[in-house]
Amino acid sequence: MASAPILDLPAARNALRATFGFDDFRGRQAEVVERTLAGQSSLAVMPTGAGKSLTYQLPAVMLEGTCVVISPLIALMHDQLRSARANGIRAATLTSADADWRETQDAFRAGELDLLYVAPERASQPAFRDFLSSARLALFAIDEAHCVSEWGHDFRPDYRMLRPLMDAFPEVPRLALTATADRQTRPDMLNQLGIPEDGLVLAGFDRPNIRYTIRHRDNPVRQLTTLMAERPGPGIVYAQTRRKVEDLADKLAAATGRQVLPYHAGLDPQTRAANQAAFVASEDMVIVATVAFGMGIDKPDVRFVAHVGVPKSIEAYYQETGRAGRDGDPSAATMFWGAGDFATARMRLAEVDEERRNAERARLDALAALVETPECRRAVLLRHFGEDPPQTCGNCDNCLDAPDVTDATELARKLLSAVYRTGQSFGMGHLQKVLTGAEDERVRQKGHDRLSVYGIVEGEEARLLQPLGRALQARGDLVPTEHGGLALGGSAREILKGEREVAIVVPPKRQRRGRRGGDE
Ligand code: ADP
Ligand code: ZN
Repeated sequence: MASAPILDLPAARNALRATFGFDDFRGRQAEVVERTLAGQSSLAVMPTGAGKSLTYQLPAVMLEGTCVVISPLIALMHDQLRSARANGIRAATLTSADADWRETQDAFRAGELDLLYVAPERASQPAFRDFLSSARLALFAIDEAHCVSEWGHDFRPDYRMLRPLMDAFPEVPRLALTATADRQTRPDMLNQLGIPEDGLVLAGFDRPNIRYTIRHRDNPVRQLTTLMAERPGPGIVYAQTRRKVEDLADKLAAATGRQVLPYHAGLDPQTRAANQAAFVASEDMVIVATVAFGMGIDKPDVRFVAHVGVPKSIEAYYQETGRAGRDGDPSAATMFWGAGDFATARMRLAEVDEERRNAERARLDALAALVETPECRRAVLLRHFGEDPPQTCGNCDNCLDAPDVTDATELARKLLSAVYRTGQSFGMGHLQKVLTGAEDERVRQKGHDRLSVYGIVEGEEARLLQPLGRALQARGDLVPTEHGGLALGGSAREILKGEREVAIVVPPKRQRRGRRGGDE
């Protein structure tokens, strides 16, 4: 009788070489693999590109029985399937897009599969539990595990059915994988998937070669042209709508003379594929895209990722900016934000289900805090991912050129009173005119020149109205109305009553010199 193979780290290294051709583990892969081989359950939180797949694929090859992989997207599953098979791993998928169900089921029952990929919808069906009982299981791998948490940015109710399924196989270890690790989501994932707290393996999220910069957007074409001149080489510009993608691509091409192509879901598939292929092959092309672009693209030499408009969340920001500088060379992640981005996002909160609304709001608040912080951007990011980084990094805008922080409590009270006294239906432009006492036809017409707030802001203070208005909108203390005006929201009443102070960040003088006007 053959003795059982020894499943330890040296054995895993040999298998790593034999199966994947890699010399060694990266980051904390070894730890995850070791735990899994020892039958322990883990939650591996690692950034995109860290090599999460390997941490279940390798044990799947080494352990007896099949590793069942839960994955939320058929397209992702098929990608994984292809790459697993390319390494000689016996893998199959059971999805609505597959025609070979019978063969796959037979192979599973015969113990001839290392990996079996299924969607959570399937996994939650009783028949599937019976099916799994018909052969030996090595491991449950739960990909994109944040989908189990309402705090995650991608909640999928079917993920909640995984726990009962896995509980039916108590001896089978679980390995949950995700790149999302904020403080609320992490304990929830452990809890919902039945993984002990000490099973958390958090890998480094720092990308030291990426320089983070976050600026107010005043003229995106000019700002991007400058960025492109500073960072020759391939770049990705994320814009929020198809129209903006097209428009920016045209204008940037005209302004820089470089090859700039658009990418969004509205382009016909051939054009889209051609533009993507051109980008991947190019050494100096810029692609302007919606967030549809980037998933599964392996281009190590992207020199910058720019956001025109705020991303959906800090997780999304990290993931999208993480496409820069995979080769380790200096790269830039630059965001150009506007108050309107937050206003729109906060307006959309009203359409979100009530249970999700708090999580969505927390996500926006975290993003606003990152955008507005006078502190090291990297430190804020890494703390968000549960790390304990140094206070400064020396490679972000705030570390390189410290912004001023100003107490704007009094000014905020003036602005918010003006909002209130004008009936909560006017935009920043009008409010500014009222507050600074402008001679203006519309102000007079509305009788706003007779309000007590007329002309109460002057000199240096007037200059702070714009950044203050932005900050209050980002924080949700000023919220947009349907007709483009501003109304009180969030903590506005506390500020008015003097119960809350307001500090804002003022960009360093050097940045303020630029020409005004343009986008907003
Ligand atoms: P993730 O799922 O964490 O985003 P992937 O599993 O897709 O990352 O892996 C990213 C890339 O890193 C893949 O090309 C993979 O082959 C490679 N990779 C993973 N582990 C190693 C390793 N130990 N040594 C070298 N390359 C690795
Ligand atoms: Zn920094």
